[in-house]
Amino acid sequence: MTKFSSQREIVANIICGTHQHLCADEVLFMAKKVNPRLGIATVYRNLNYLVEEGKISKFRDANQGYIFDSNIEKHYHFQCMTCGMLYDLPIRYNSNLDDMINRELQLEIDTHETMFYGTCKKCQMTKGEN
Ligand SMILES: [Zn+2]
Ligand SMILES: [Zn+2]
Repeated sequence: MTKFSSQREIVANIICGTHQHLCADEVLFMAKKVNPRLGIATVYRNLNYLVEEGKISKFRDANQGYIFDSNIEKHYHFQCMTCGMLYDLPIRYNSNLDDMINRELQLEIDTHETMFYGTCKKCQMTKGEN
C-alpha cells in the first residue's frame, strides 16, 4: 500500500511549517509542488477546515484578502506599506478592550483584530540611502 499525505495534511504542513502569513494562492503554489492535482477549491476548503478546528487562524490584510496564519494566539499585525511584508507584533493582546466594550455596550466580544500600517525597518534604511 502506498502512503500519501492527505490533502489536509499537505495544507497544514505548509502553513505550520513556514511560520509565515500566507494567502490561499501562495498555499496553492506550494501545495502543487507536493501534489500537482490540488486545486484552489480544495486548498480553500482545507484551510477553512483547519481554521474551524483551531489549528490555524485567518484575518484580512490591506487588500481585503484572507491571510492564513500558523500563530493561533490572539496577536496584532504590522504590514509595511512599502514592501508589503506582514509581521506579528510582539506586544500583548489587549483583552481590557474586549471587557470594556462588553461592559459599556452590552455586547459579547470574543476577539478583535488590529492591523498597524507603516514602514518596516528595512524599508526605512533603504529610504535613507536615496
Ligand atoms: Zn518594508
Ligand atoms: Zn500572525
